[in-house]
Amino acid sequence: MSTIQTKTSTGFQMPVLIYPTSALSPVISQTTIEHHYGKHLQTYVDNLNKLVSGSEYEGLSLREIVEHAPQGPLFNNAGQVLNHALYFEQFTPYPPGNNRPNGTLLSAIHFDFGNFETMKKKMEESAASLFGSGWVWLAQDENGKLNILSCHNGDNPIRHRMAPLYGIDVWEHAYYLDYQNRRAEHVQRLWEIVDWEMVESRMNM
Ligand code: MN
Repeated sequence: MSTIQTKTSTGFQMPVLIYPTSALSPVISQTTIEHHYGKHLQTYVDNLNKLVSGSEYEGLSLREIVEHAPQGPLFNNAGQVLNHALYFEQFTPYPPGNNRPNGTLLSAIHFDFGNFETMKKKMEESAASLFGSGWVWLAQDENGKLNILSCHNGDNPIRHRMAPLYGIDVWEHAYYLDYQNRRAEHVQRLWEIVDWEMVESRMNM
């Protein structure tokens, strides 16, 4: 989770985008990345800095704010900065090379879901049924078990004492320019660009 250390002496910074804005096309278009990363995420970062300034949470890390802030604007914006830092970092340019999990992650998927296809299907079903705005996460609990966790608005698995591994953003801003109301098609196509080595690196082994 390298890029989520976004804090400097002048406040929280934008996470670094580790590929060009056109790199995920046609799964996610350049226009969507420009709006999603460049405008939506920038707004969450700006709001977080305004809200944390002078509060009792000033000086805490992003993760600590997500863990401890009460429900409300500060938590929502901190959660969204963390969610999006993880989100943009988990993709690999199109067309990808090996875009299947392996090693420790694949073993855990087999143990907890039976096989990779079943895990994908369960995440797709959760993404389709999440009402309104939010996230669906592949997350690992404190016993090492993989779970699929549906989170509303800016919520994050860290709040539920789980490690976030792979997150699907089901806010309309993530897909509407490219897929309009076809959320299910968007979610299915995302499998083509997942960086599974990055996802595995987020596991508590
Ligand atoms: Mn988003």
